[in-house]
Amino acid sequence: MRTPWSPQRAAPISDSCEVVPERFTVELAHSILRIHRSCPTDQCARRKAAVFYLYDQHQHANGARQRRLR
Ligand SMILES: [Zn+2]
Repeated sequence: MRTPWSPQRAAPISDSCEVVPERFTVELAHSILRIHRSCPTDQCARRKAAVFYLYDQHQHANGARQRRLR
């Protein structure tokens, strides 16, 4: 049964903001960001996790950790 008066809930349950996937892939993270693009990051655990995952990946992708210990 659908609830036409709550169009914001159109996403499947597995895509709800509170549900954070156990395993992330870059693809999954990007799709989450697309689906939850209008969610405030601090109020959407799913989006937040995806953001952190991609940030972390980006750090690693930038090669060796930048050492500022000279
Ligand atoms: Zn969300």
